[in-house]
Amino acid sequence: MKKVSIFGATGSIGQNTIDLVRKDRELFDVKVLTGGKNIKRLAEDANELKPDLVVTAHDYLYNDLTELIKDKRIEIAAGYQAICDVASIETDWVMSAIIGAAGLKPGVLAMEAGADLALANKESMVAAGPILKKTASKKNVNLIPVDSEHSAIFQLLIGQETKSVERVILTASGGAFRDWSIDELKKATPNQASKHPNWVMGQRITIDSASMFNKALEVIEAKEFFDLPPNQIEVLIHPQSLVHAFVGFCDGSLISHVGPADMRHAIGFALYYPKRPNLDLKRLNFEEIGTFEFYSPDFKKYPALRLAYEVLEIGGFAGAVYNSAKEIALDAFIDRKIKFTDMSVVVEMVLDDFFGKGMEIKEEHTLENVLKIDHMGRLAAQNQIKKLQIK
Ligand code: NAD
Ligand code: MG
Repeated sequence: MKKVSIFGATGSIGQNTIDLVRKDRELFDVKVLTGGKNIKRLAEDANELKPDLVVTAHDYLYNDLTELIKDKRIEIAAGYQAICDVASIETDWVMSAIIGAAGLKPGVLAMEAGADLALANKESMVAAGPILKKTASKKNVNLIPVDSEHSAIFQLLIGQETKSVERVILTASGGAFRDWSIDELKKATPNQASKHPNWVMGQRITIDSASMFNKALEVIEAKEFFDLPPNQIEVLIHPQSLVHAFVGFCDGSLISHVGPADMRHAIGFALYYPKRPNLDLKRLNFEEIGTFEFYSPDFKKYPALRLAYEVLEIGGFAGAVYNSAKEIALDAFIDRKIKFTDMSVVVEMVLDDFFGKGMEIKEEHTLENVLKIDHMGRLAAQNQIKKLQIK
């Protein structure tokens, strides 16, 4: 059997992973499930899948979770430290589906302990791509992208020579506000931003899709996963969300990956890697789809994208700063402290705090230092938010 652990099991990616694991119980032995506040969901899944360990990120929920777990052989723990501790137990495969930089440390520890890492948590690649890659290669484990665009590129590159790749194109749905003007965006509410036209996802990534911060993180994620310079990574708006990515080769060919907007395809690919699974999911019917549209994103409307390319130029800790400031700006928007369009303003001001006027961070690029910079980025973002706060 394949021993699997799911970090962020109660979220959108976590639940889709459980759905696939549930369909193949003969093959998968679930070792660890982790979640956050939704302990009812976590306990239901634990009671069904019988992991060795179940962990909530919140200390205060320990007793409530214990009451909900029926099988007394299942060990229960609580708190972020407990999540990091269980990342080191022996497993063959770990789904990294915690949201935000909180997913970074458990992901690194899981690979250190010898597990293949299926990486949905794009924030860890943005903050610390070189550390993840170094750990994977040191431990000889697979680091497999789960983000649909990156899974697509990963699949398109199988059997290809790296040097024959000329460019990659990430598609973007354009999110909830695809057809809104900049003036309309200034008045956008968290509720409006939380409705994605094509994908069903957690609230945070849905809002990030509307602001293009999601695609911006993905540009950085692509650079880290595929070692490409900024001018070989392109973004194209594709409202149908069916073509997930293209890879362009040195002979001028463009090869695309096409599939329904269902994350279980990318998760399934990672779960059974290197074998291709039989997945009983919807097949595309081209007659029903009709037209595929593609057009270039407006960098003025989406400063998040422009800033991502600046981050690529700066390198080093810039990804960690960018992501941490974005997470805090997103919290502030959800709490209605700042406007939708101010999220990118906050991130730009924080990047300027750290890297303006030729400033650099000279420290060694270690996990400890990334976490330190991530913390500093959050504090800097909070300071900037105070200046912008809606009265
Ligand atoms: P979600 O909000 O639905 O779920 C997040 C999970 O992480 C939950 O289980 C939650 O309890 C847990 N969590 C949140 N904060 C935590 C913390 N501080 N410590 C420990 N656990 C914590 O998120 P999601 O939409 O499933 O996204 C998960 C990751 O996958 C993100 O990095 C996202 O960018 C990426 N991703 C998601 C999708 C998608 O379709 N949802 C697609 C591509 C990539
Ligand atoms: Mg994606």
